[in-house]
Amino acid sequence: MAAIREQYPYLYETHLHTAESSACARSTGAEMARACKEYGYTGIFVTDHNWGGNTTVDRSLSWEEWTDRFEQGYLHAAEEGARIGLDVFYGYEAGYDGTEFLIYGVDSAWMKAHSQIRTATVEEQYRLIHEAGGLVIHAHPFREAGYIPDIRLYPQWVDGVEGVNATHSNSRSMAHNDPAFDQRAIAYAGQHGLPLTAGSDIHTTQLLGGGIAFRRRLRSARDYVQAVLNGEDYVLTNGEAWFDKAGNRIG
Ligand SMILES: [Zn+2]
Ligand SMILES: [Zn+2]
Repeated sequence: MAAIREQYPYLYETHLHTAESSACARSTGAEMARACKEYGYTGIFVTDHNWGGNTTVDRSLSWEEWTDRFEQGYLHAAEEGARIGLDVFYGYEAGYDGTEFLIYGVDSAWMKAHSQIRTATVEEQYRLIHEAGGLVIHAHPFREAGYIPDIRLYPQWVDGVEGVNATHSNSRSMAHNDPAFDQRAIAYAGQHGLPLTAGSDIHTTQLLGGGIAFRRRLRSARDYVQAVLNGEDYVLTNGEAWFDKAGNRIG
């Protein structure tokens, strides 16, 4: 484990919620940033639930206002991150009747200028996010839960698969515990040749420690997008175990 951390010192949380924008989250962006810095993360991606998911932001607001309110959790995390030395990147979790996707590489200004994303189908989302230079990752594709009526797969409309979701497989997780959800996601990604990612799906400062560790520090969310698409060397963790990019346990 220590040897893995030495080779891959730059750890990123790729799936994190804030109370400002996610109704199910308990801690603010600033609190999450402080906890993640303390844990040893180099950076975090704030991925609050969008209009199709468990958002706190009133869906009847104008698009302009909606996007402003939606990024509050990210902004508070980023402000605190700048103060304490944690890299904070914008992202979001897109919900389609319980099927969810993690979106990276776009920002609030892009959102504002592309209101068509609000009614986009899964296929249109992929095209739009790609035109913007972003990344679409299928979040926890095999999670079984009350809010997910069906497991629906879109291998042609995603860039990768969240193969390690710490809420499934970390022993300290308080929800959705079933490591088989991760095993199925890893097998699915392998069948389709899709890259794997890892994150904690964390909603409070009781961190699980999941994420992706790189050999180098990421410069931006776009840099992360390129690292995943270009097959850069990285390792995955659920905060307890470590996995290589194919999902094989290595520590
Ligand atoms: Zn949530
Ligand atoms: Zn989530």
